[in-house]
Amino acid sequence: MTMISLTPLEVWIRNKIEIGLSTPDRSFQDALNNYHLQRLKNVINYARQKSQFYAHHLALVPEEPLNTLADMSQLPFTMPSDLSDNPWHFLTVHQEDITRIVTLRTSGSTGKPKRIFFTQEDLELTIDFFAIGMSTFVKPGQRVLILLPGDQPDSVGELLARGLKRIKVDSFAHGPVRDIKTAIDKIVSLEIDSLVGIPTQVLTLARSREGAVLKKGMIKNVLLSTDYVPQSIIKSLEEIWGCSVFNHYGMTEMGLGGGVECDAHNGYHLREADLYFEVINPETGEIIDDGSSGEIVFTTLTRKGMPLIRYRTGDIARFIREPCPCGTVLRRMERVRGRWDGRVFLGMGQTITLPEMDEALFSVPWLLNYRVTMTNHNERILLGIEVYADSDHSHQGPEVTRVLRDIPQISKAIERKSLELGPVQFREDDWFTTGVAKRGIIVNERG
Ligand SMILES: [Zn+2]
Repeated sequence: MTMISLTPLEVWIRNKIEIGLSTPDRSFQDALNNYHLQRLKNVINYARQKSQFYAHHLALVPEEPLNTLADMSQLPFTMPSDLSDNPWHFLTVHQEDITRIVTLRTSGSTGKPKRIFFTQEDLELTIDFFAIGMSTFVKPGQRVLILLPGDQPDSVGELLARGLKRIKVDSFAHGPVRDIKTAIDKIVSLEIDSLVGIPTQVLTLARSREGAVLKKGMIKNVLLSTDYVPQSIIKSLEEIWGCSVFNHYGMTEMGLGGGVECDAHNGYHLREADLYFEVINPETGEIIDDGSSGEIVFTTLTRKGMPLIRYRTGDIARFIREPCPCGTVLRRMERVRGRWDGRVFLGMGQTITLPEMDEALFSVPWLLNYRVTMTNHNERILLGIEVYADSDHSHQGPEVTRVLRDIPQISKAIERKSLELGPVQFREDDWFTTGVAKRGIIVNERG
């Protein structure tokens, strides 16, 4: 049996809140709660005083709203639409103190982008978290290829590279995969042993014909980020490469990094020195504290340029109540299961999400990626599927159809004739041009 190492986040957080390593777990926990309470009070005051948005948004909140952490439930949420409506009103510093602006295109029909602002200090905290998070699985001397956007200064890939440098790990920026062979050649020529990338892109490298040159054991660790991560992709990478796969959870609004799995590979430990997390009932807004699933909400504790208070992520997860096998007292959040607004209704109260489809479809061992379209046509949903695979699999469409039919909601919808499966269409190219765009089920209202 191998030892499961303690998450490095514990020591990092103990240092940040100035609680020594020898302080017993119980007191550490109390100190962390107290740190959160004090920081939350500060951020509420700071945001109210400095940001035009929060001055208005928190106008009805009492002067000293928090006695305990549970009192957070008294504060209003910040919605993603608030960020796209008027991002500049969130600023708490002068415009010239902003070093980096990230523009996020929203998938909604309004089309107004969200803008997230960072000061130099804000970016520094992200680099610091990246360094500590990566130290979970890479050691000095290892060589990492970063398959995330990294050509702009202060982009996620570039900040990650700076974090890795601090822990003496060599890293190489590649950017999202656009051509399989180029990426594979780089892995070989640079003697890469670890990858950081987008789940479906890394899977494509492992499963593609060109990827066969990467023998088992060459890639030791993989960090998957930017999207929720299907278990079927993790399992497949572990089998093909014999590597360890770690999950990172984060979004730009969080300051890119949010949490990372430990050696136990069972849920993230969170960036609790910089962020305060809650799980809420997405319908009632109440805090869920019994470990059941809900929407992740976070508050920034250390953000200088643009604090966010109770920001609704739309992501679904839960806190795991059982202690982590790595031995930390830090909380653990189960892997994100998808998005609340990502559900597609199939009639009769049934829904389906992309993560549910991912689990099924990525279990097909030759499938590299796919795209699902649902079109309402004569009171029926027509489910169209395009599959990306090497050409020698183009006769295996029926396998994809079978896997789709085996998804319980789909089979029920087919049975009651409210859904019809279209033919499987094969494609070989054009899949990487979307870069890091979030995947989703494409819904057309009429056919
Ligand atoms: Zn752990």
